[in-house]
Amino acid sequence: MDVTIEQSCPSCGAAIILNEDDRLIQCEYCDVHNYKTGNGADRFVLPSKLPENINESQLVFAPYLRFKGSIFYVRDNEVQYKIVDTTRLGLDNRLLPVSLGLRPQAMQLKPVVSATRGGFILQSMPTKKVFAHAAMVVDLFDKHTVKTCHHRAFIGETISCIYQPCYVKDDHLFDAVTNQVIGDYTLLGDHLHKTCVSKSSWEPRFLATLCPKCGGRLTGERDTIVLQCTNCQSLWQERGGRFNAVDWTVVAGEDRARYLPFWRISFTTAGYVLKYFADFLRFTNQPLVPMPLYENRPLVFWIPAFKVNPKAFLQLASQLTVAQTRIPSGQTDRVTNDYPVTLDQQEALQAIKSVLAYSTLSREKRFSALPEIRLAANSCALTYLPFVAETHDLVQEHTLASVQTAAMRYGRVL
Ligand SMILES: [Zn+2]
Ligand SMILES: [Zn+2]
Repeated sequence: MDVTIEQSCPSCGAAIILNEDDRLIQCEYCDVHNYKTGNGADRFVLPSKLPENINESQLVFAPYLRFKGSIFYVRDNEVQYKIVDTTRLGLDNRLLPVSLGLRPQAMQLKPVVSATRGGFILQSMPTKKVFAHAAMVVDLFDKHTVKTCHHRAFIGETISCIYQPCYVKDDHLFDAVTNQVIGDYTLLGDHLHKTCVSKSSWEPRFLATLCPKCGGRLTGERDTIVLQCTNCQSLWQERGGRFNAVDWTVVAGEDRARYLPFWRISFTTAGYVLKYFADFLRFTNQPLVPMPLYENRPLVFWIPAFKVNPKAFLQLASQLTVAQTRIPSGQTDRVTNDYPVTLDQQEALQAIKSVLAYSTLSREKRFSALPEIRLAANSCALTYLPFVAETHDLVQEHTLASVQTAAMRYGRVL
């Protein structure tokens, strides 16, 4: 489900309505483009409507953590996946509801800024623990039938903090969105006193979309995390509040091709060794003759650099990784007709073991080795591969790896 945010334009202050995944912001009033940086977890408040005798400084905000993404599990002899899209209370407390339910989707959120008045209750449960609870709730699988979980990874996530506004009146805690009583305020215990005021570091940060190399305008689609300068043909990714150049290549294809971005990941392993393509063929028991050539051909993983539904993600990564010898090397030329990058390197790296497990044909024997594999010294290069549209699919020309067009659309609103 989509969450929308009312953000004021960093240049002129006009209200702009954003989707929570939007990064590139164009203001229709002043026409200035800004890029929203990945400045830790975003913080939002639900809009409150206060009665006349209560003012904003009396508000207390209860923290809820929002998780959105896919969980991959390697359990028993299967790779399973589940979509998580939930909010969970970040406090150990029974007075407040454990989740915000559909509320964040039903109303426009506002970013917390330094001018937001009221007390913010400090999160008392570690994010990891809150997430473990959330994952348990969405878990499809019956605990009693699952023998072993070899691996679990959370991919493509958005983690943000949404504050529920409340106030105390006549010994009761009120929900400031509906002005309904939640309960006896003393049941909130110490939490009511462990608050802080809004910090300027919580505010969203923006960068001017100017190419650091030539001063040209950086462009891209609204949810992209890699921006392009068409003036000097360079790509840029924000980290630590500045744009850094991204190494990239394009594998040439047909004229009508759509170019999908992938992270081409090479790495060294400790523990169980997976170094060469032949190691991968043996581990996954592929019906391919391991040519002598493969014994010293370095293994790479091809991981989608975009959000797509978990099944399509695993299929595409697996098909390309198995067929990696058929992918020609790319060139640093021009990127045109490209699909936006919406999944970063770190998350792609998290997906490797799930892709390895998904590619494995005889499963029982090998999965116990997964925890032993430790990935190190990785390098991630952004590579655009040409795909051609056929009836319901996009098909990669060299490997015939394919992805449903519907799965791609789904990825944009995931
Ligand atoms: Zn503006
Ligand atoms: Zn440039």
